[in-house]
Amino acid sequence: MRTLPEPVQNLVDALARLPGVGPKTASRLTFYLLRAPEDISLSLADALHGLKEETGLCETCFNITRKDTPICEVCGSDQRDRHTICVVEEPMDVLAIEKTAGFNGLYHVLHGVLSPIEGIGPEDLKIKELYARLDADEIKEVILATNPSMEGDATAMYLNERIAPMGIRVTRLARGLPVGGDLEYADQNTLLRALAGRQDLD
Ligand SMILES: [Zn+2]
Repeated sequence: MRTLPEPVQNLVDALARLPGVGPKTASRLTFYLLRAPEDISLSLADALHGLKEETGLCETCFNITRKDTPICEVCGSDQRDRHTICVVEEPMDVLAIEKTAGFNGLYHVLHGVLSPIEGIGPEDLKIKELYARLDADEIKEVILATNPSMEGDATAMYLNERIAPMGIRVTRLARGLPVGGDLEYADQNTLLRALAGRQDLD
């Protein structure tokens, strides 16, 4: 057999496009699904379908939300401190911070970081939308919780330079998070300490 039957090759190719999945893993997963009981591949297909069909972004903070609720759980809650916004790169970061139970304010998800090398500028991120919230709402503090990477730091610096003149307190997560690592992989205690020890930027 020189080539795989097309339906098999299609799945191998689709899986191999995912981050962290090389051609070898893609083949292994595909052949696993071929052998496994049908309900495993059916539930996977269902979940994949629902992922795009049934989710959307919160109209306020751009976190992931169900499509039938335009405002996410955090933005819609009356239990949250509405004077503090924690700015993160990705929805996974919101989850990581929520798990620490150490933050009770609101979020804003940028959906990336500034990266001149990759051609990602402010207009490619949800930065305009952040300024609009700062203008409209009574925000007293913005916590910049971008990752402790070069791009994350540069994005935090960029935002600080523009938000501080609005008379809003700007803080950055304390050092101690693994440098270059992602927030979402930091353990809960480390993240909690970084939040509690956040420092004013000037
Ligand atoms: Zn929201």
